[in-house]
Amino acid sequence: MGHRECIFCKIVAGAAPCHRVFEDDRVLSFMDIQPVGDGHLLIVPKAHFESLLEADDASLSAVVQLSRRLALALKRALGPDGIGVHQLNGAAAGQTVFHYHMHLIPRNHGDPIAFHGRKAGDPARLAENARRIAAELARIVPPLPG
Ligand code: AMP
Ligand code: ZN
Repeated sequence: MGHRECIFCKIVAGAAPCHRVFEDDRVLSFMDIQPVGDGHLLIVPKAHFESLLEADDASLSAVVQLSRRLALALKRALGPDGIGVHQLNGAAAGQTVFHYHMHLIPRNHGDPIAFHGRKAGDPARLAENARRIAAELARIVPPLPG
């Protein structure tokens, strides 16, 4: 799929909606629309590449560094027992959106391990989670000067 039809490129460009948590010049984070667990986040680089195999180092560094801050914010906002961080490369591995992205999935003891949710999240809940996680993130990442 070319990036013109890529849903994550549309979200990055503001041409499709999302429940945004954070963005800077390299990366964007928003709520997964079909969450595995309450608070399921995605981190995408703004540049389009299909999977980890095509990734550029600057985008990857930005995604990984943000993953730690977001994991802290998620833990403080929603208090899950654990957080799964993963990403899938290629249809055979379960990838369904072919724009590299990292998942942060809150998990509690006893939850079945799953990589994809079964139904769309409640929009009000997604918006509330985005707001709460962003508020915690703002305490971890000071706003950039200027
Ligand atoms: P993967 O299977 O690793 O490629 O994951 C794709 C993820 O993107 C799934 O968890 C979907 O629920 C999620 N997703 C697909 N479209 C959207 C969208 N428009 N907004 C937010 N999440 C999305
Ligand atoms: Zn894309």
